Amino acid sequence: MAERWSLHPEASAGSLPKVIVVGAGIAGLTAARLLHDTGFQVTVLEARARIGGRIWTTQRLGVQCELGASWIHRAEFNPLTSLCRHLGISLLLPAERGTYAWVNGHRVPLSDLVWQARRGVARAGLALAWHYMRAVLGWRLGRPYDISVAAAVTPLLRNGHLPPLDRALLTWGLGMVESIFGAPADQITIRSLDPRELRGHNALPLGGYAQIVEAMAEGVDIRLNTPVEAVAIDSQGVTVHTREGTLTADVVIVTVPLGVLRSGVITFDPPLPSSYHHAMRRIGYGGDAVLNKIWLRFPARFWPEDCQRIVALPDQHLCSGCFVTWIDKQHVTGAPVLETFLSGYRAAQWDREGADEDVVEAGLRVLRASFPGGVPDPVDFFVTRWLSDPWTRGSFAYEHVGTRPVDWQVLQRPVGNRLFLAGEATDQENYGTVEAGLLSGERAARDVHRLWCCPREHIRHLPWRRLPV
Ligand SMILES: Cc1cc2nc3c(=O)[nH]c(=O)nc-3n(C[C@H](O)[C@H](O)[C@H](O)COP(=O)(O)OP(=O)(O)OC[C@H]3O[C@@H](n4cnc5c(N)ncnc54)[C@H](O)[C@@H]3O)c2cc1C
Repeated sequence: MAERWSLHPEASAGSLPKVIVVGAGIAGLTAARLLHDTGFQVTVLEARARIGGRIWTTQRLGVQCELGASWIHRAEFNPLTSLCRHLGISLLLPAERGTYAWVNGHRVPLSDLVWQARRGVARAGLALAWHYMRAVLGWRLGRPYDISVAAAVTPLLRNGHLPPLDRALLTWGLGMVESIFGAPADQITIRSLDPRELRGHNALPLGGYAQIVEAMAEGVDIRLNTPVEAVAIDSQGVTVHTREGTLTADVVIVTVPLGVLRSGVITFDPPLPSSYHHAMRRIGYGGDAVLNKIWLRFPARFWPEDCQRIVALPDQHLCSGCFVTWIDKQHVTGAPVLETFLSGYRAAQWDREGADEDVVEAGLRVLRASFPGGVPDPVDFFVTRWLSDPWTRGSFAYEHVGTRPVDWQVLQRPVGNRLFLAGEATDQENYGTVEAGLLSGERAARDVHRLWCCPREHIRHLPWRRLPV
């Protein structure tokens, strides 16, 4: 029997109002599970034929592949670490070393390259730090200043005296920024480069991320293949129209991705207040912003045993956010598998109109140019398309040049006492992560509980609320 994660220990099952949750990603499932266990009557409506949303663990290549989230970022500080520990899910901390580039046919550790290019790296670091401080202080002092990450380093890249290695490494760094934030570097605000994000290590949940959503979904009524088309709210309650019929409830929590919310495929009656539309428009999501993955299975391992990441320096390819790093997945899957990423303008174009084979061929060209030992054709591959996916319309939120800190707070506010928004894009601190989905789901559940049950709550017993050790 599922453990009870109630917000209010005395409430009895099914005695509290009816709640509909739209979306069975981590945010929707967290909200649903907490409210269900507290005594609310909860139904989750999910458009897809599966739960998890952007957590998508599959066996596509005959081995376990994460096609959405794979990392628990900053595991030492991440509530998911405590949750995994509670659920008996082991975490793998990949070794720090093992990242190599091939320069003129020679294998060089990334750390050596950074040392060789230290003057350019230091100058870029200073430029970024200066613009970052100016932007952060500017916002605090009421004198907003904003600049994109690309704009902050472009003057340096244009400098004709910059040695080629320094230029290659800085361009590679911009490609990494595009991969991490899932957006073109000229769209990402400098304020995203919060140095606190560098604390801690990334960990992989062994056995797959899907285990977390499956555990969260235990005991909850979930209707799959049920896309929501309209939400109508009046003083009597909430009416939710789906392709499969109409449901009524007292409260609705909408956790669909920001791209879906913006697209208007779900209509709201009355419409969402204009402040929500302004906030949704300013927070970065979709458009030309995407992070896609390619998983490739090879006939045999051809990269060295001690190499966990292959760095592709950009003089070997043209588009900065694509194929910059190739990650060894053999230690997780047991098979000769590599994973690489696509982000930036070219990635968005490929997502919309590129054939899988062409995308893979372009990636292999980069890998073959970067890795001199000969790269065989893969026996199988999978390319994601999160931008064209109608239930996602992008990968995750990012802080755009011009996003205002208040935008996230607007989306967190309940609309009246019947409509609540959750999902990673509503979490100011951790947007773009599974952690954000989890905490936004918890926030929405607590808001509903406070408004529809009582202000007393107890959350310390929730396993993700214990400090990771
Ligand atoms: C390629 C990629 C890599 C990532 N890597 C990481 C990582 O390593 N670590 C990390 O922490 N995060 C990562 N993320 C981000 C993370 O996956 C998300 O932030 C998180 O899973 C979002 O959860 P959510 O519940 O907010 O949204 P979702 O998981 O998107 O859930 C929303 C649900 O709503 C459903 N839905 C949409 N429209 C409708 C409708 N009309 N009716 C009913 N249902 C609807 C969707 O199908 C979906 O199931 C990655 C994301 C991507 C795309």
